[in-house]
Amino acid sequence: MELSEATGQAFTMAAELLPPGMGVCLAAAVAKSMFRPEHEAEYAERFWKTMQKKVDCSEISIDQKLAHRLEQAGLPTPRRLFVYEDDGEPQAFHSYGNVGISRSLWSEDDVPAHFALGHELSHYKHRDEVGWLGVEQLRTLLEPYPATTVQITEQERVLSHFIEHRADREGVHVPDLGFDPEIGLMRLMGAFLGGEWAASRSHPDTVDRWDVLRSELKQE
Ligand SMILES: [Zn+2]
Repeated sequence: MELSEATGQAFTMAAELLPPGMGVCLAAAVAKSMFRPEHEAEYAERFWKTMQKKVDCSEISIDQKLAHRLEQAGLPTPRRLFVYEDDGEPQAFHSYGNVGISRSLWSEDDVPAHFALGHELSHYKHRDEVGWLGVEQLRTLLEPYPATTVQITEQERVLSHFIEHRADREGVHVPDLGFDPEIGLMRLMGAFLGGEWAASRSHPDTVDRWDVLRSELKQE
């Protein structure tokens, strides 16, 4: 879609006037209202078929205890939970309700594995993936206007960090942290400390995430 010069200027002004995060939040909200649940179900099936062809992965069932913990945390059950072979780097991801946890993360320790599951399910619950489709669309639309692109990049970072902190806060209620949550948190963060989790445009840094998790647990 081509924008006229006047529309482009209007977009630029709007992007500059909006408080940080507002422009991309609006784009995400529009995408969520346009993208219907049946489309998400269809994408989820397609993703799973492709995944099975390309990667060595196996579906795992959720036992009653874990299902109960998810319910208590206010999180949905995944469409599918599967473990996939990795290169030793603990990782997790989701796609339209399919949650994949890498073998080295899943078999190591319940606490980080269940936290990762909860974190990914928070993304599923809030349809963050669909929201990003809208943000990408906004970025494409504004590509001819470099001044706006700088704004959008900053807004994307703000929104992304907000979303990741929210996923951490919701996900931390899934693992059984035991009597001393502080030790539980150490087990959890120990599994994630590494290059993968350094601060980036999409993720806050580990110290920030740790602080947010601690304050979340103190509010209980
Ligand atoms: Zn995340």
